Amino acid sequence: MGLERQPTYSQLIAELNAGNVKSLILVPERREVVALFNNGSEFTIPILLNDQQILRSAESSGTPLTVKDLSATRAQAGIAANLTIILMIVIGLTFLLKRSVSVANRAIGFSKSQPRLKSQDQMNIRFEDVAGVKEAAEELNEVVTFLLKPESLLKLGAKIPRGVLLVGPPGTGKTLLAKAIAGEAGVPFFSIAGSEFVELFVGVGASRVRDLFSQAKQKSPCIIFIDEIDAVGRQRGAGIGGGNDEREQTLNQLLTEMDGFADNSGVVVIAATNRPDVLDSALMRPGRFDRRISVSLPDRKGRTEILSVHARSRPLAPEVSLNDWAIKTPGFSGAELENLLNEAAILTARYNNKLIENIHIEQALERVTIGLPSSALQDSSRKRLIAYHEIGHALLASLLPHADKVDKVTLLPRTNGIAGFTRFWPDEDVVDSGLLTKGYLFNRLIVALGGRAAEIIIFGENEITQGASGDLESATKIAREMVTRFGFSQLGPVSLESTSSEVFLGRDLIQARRGYSETTGQAVDEQVKHLLLTAMDRAMKLLSPRRKIMDQLVEALIEEETLHSERFLALAGL
Ligand code: ADP
Ligand code: MG
Ligand code: ZN
Repeated sequence: MGLERQPTYSQLIAELNAGNVKSLILVPERREVVALFNNGSEFTIPILLNDQQILRSAESSGTPLTVKDLSATRAQAGIAANLTIILMIVIGLTFLLKRSVSVANRAIGFSKSQPRLKSQDQMNIRFEDVAGVKEAAEELNEVVTFLLKPESLLKLGAKIPRGVLLVGPPGTGKTLLAKAIAGEAGVPFFSIAGSEFVELFVGVGASRVRDLFSQAKQKSPCIIFIDEIDAVGRQRGAGIGGGNDEREQTLNQLLTEMDGFADNSGVVVIAATNRPDVLDSALMRPGRFDRRISVSLPDRKGRTEILSVHARSRPLAPEVSLNDWAIKTPGFSGAELENLLNEAAILTARYNNKLIENIHIEQALERVTIGLPSSALQDSSRKRLIAYHEIGHALLASLLPHADKVDKVTLLPRTNGIAGFTRFWPDEDVVDSGLLTKGYLFNRLIVALGGRAAEIIIFGENEITQGASGDLESATKIAREMVTRFGFSQLGPVSLESTSSEVFLGRDLIQARRGYSETTGQAVDEQVKHLLLTAMDRAMKLLSPRRKIMDQLVEALIEEETLHSERFLALAGL
C-alpha cells in the first residue's frame, strides 16, 4: 500500500490498525505525530491534545512509538546560548585588559619615543623653495655656516649661537625655513612639536626634553627643531590659580639643557612660534635663544616670488601675471598664497581646462577672501539697497585722495550671507611701508561709513538696515586705535592701550588692563564718537550732491552685477 498524499487523522488510525506503519514519533508540544510507513514514505500528521486514540492504536498494533520532548532540546539550546555569551564576555574582557596594558606600556615608553630624526634624503626642501623672506633665510644660513665651519668663529673667540627663535605670523614659512636649513646644512635634524612634550602624564615632558638632548649630543653637529614652542615655553606662573606644573617642569628642563651642553658642542636649537609675547623671558636670554629672526608677512615683491615658487608645479596660462596677483593680495601669508593657487588649480580642473587662467585665480581669490558664491539675488528692493550701499563705499573711495582704490564692486551673493561687496586695492605705499597716516586712516573711516551714508541719502533715516553693522564695527575699531594708540585725536600724543590686545590668561587680567582714569575713559569715548560723526558727516557731504552719479552706477551694477575698476571709474566720470 503506498500513500501518496498526506493522510488524514482517521486514515492514519486505519493504517496503524492495518499494520502498515513502521514507527511513530510523537511530538506532544507541537501536537503532531511523524509516521513512517512500511513503504518508506513519511508524513507529519496533526493530532489532538493529549491524544489517547493514537496511543491505544499503536499499542494494539505493536507499532514502536517514541515521544520527543522538545522542552529538553530547547533547554540545551538555552545553555549553549548562555555559554556563548559568557565566552564573548571573557574574550571582551581579555581584549580590554590587553589594551590597557598596552596603553600603560606606551605611557611608560612615552618618554623615549618621540623626536623624529630626519634622514638626509627626506629633507628635500632648499632655501630656494622659501621665497619672500630673504633676510630671515640669510641669517639662518649664517647659522648653518657656523655649524659646518666653526673654525672661522672659534678663531675670533666667538661662540656658535645656541638657539635661533623664528618669530612670525602663522603661515609665513617658519616651519618651511627650518626644513630648508635641515636640507641645506647636511647635518642630522631632529624635529619635534612643542605640544608633543606636554602629554597626559606628569613628568613625561621633562624626560622627553632630556632624552631629546642626549640623543642630539650623540649625533652632533646637529639641529634640533622645536616647532610651536609656545606650547611649552609660556611664561611660568601666568595661569589663573597656579600655572601648569607639567609645562613648567618641561620648560625648566629645556632651559637647563640649553645651558648644560658644553660650549661649541655643535647642537643648535631652532624654535618657531607665532606667539613670542607669551614666551617666558628666560628663554630669550643670551645663551639660550640668543638669535631672534622675525619672519614677517611678505611684501608685494615677496608675494610675487612666493607665487612663482608655487607656480613651478602648476601650469599657468601665459597671460597670467603673478605680479598683478601679488598686488591684489596684500596681507596674504605664504600659506594663503599657496592656498590661492591651489584653489585656482582645483577650479581649473573643474572646468576641464589645461592651464590656470586669470579668471580661475580671480574666482579662487573670491572664494578664499569672501566665501563661496550662491545663487544671484532677484531684482528686488533689497538688491537695490545693497547696490546703493556698495556704491556708497566705492564712490567715496574713488573721490578721496590717499584712500584705497576700488578694485571691483559686485552684487553676486555668497553662501555666508554677504550679498554684495566692494574690494579695494590698498595703497601700495601704505601697505609696503606699514606707515599709516592720520589722513589715510580718517579716509578709511569715511569709506567704511559710506554704505550707511548712501542708505540714508537714498532711502531715508527709517529705511537704513543693520547690514552696515560690520562697517560700523570696523570703523569704530579704527577710530578707537586712532585715539588710544596713535595719538591722532585732541587727547594728544598719548598711548592709552598697549599693542597686545589679546588677554594672556592671568597676567593681563591681574595687571590693571586700563592704564587711565574714568575721566580719560570718557574722553576717549567722546573722541571716538567725534571722529566717527565727523567722518559720517564728510561721507554725507560728498555723496549728497552726487545722487545722479550714484543712480547711474547702481543701474549699471544691477545690470552687470560686477563693475571692475576701469568700468567703475568711467561710469563715475572720474
Ligand atoms: P608657519 O610659519 O606657520 O610654520 P609653514 O612654514 O608651515 O608656516 O608654511 C605653510 C606652507 O605655506 C608651506 O608649506 C609653504 O607651502 C607655504 N609657504 C609659506 N611661506 C612660504 C614662503 N615664504 N615661500 C614659499 N612657500 C611658503
Ligand atoms: Mg609652522
Ligand atoms: Zn558696507
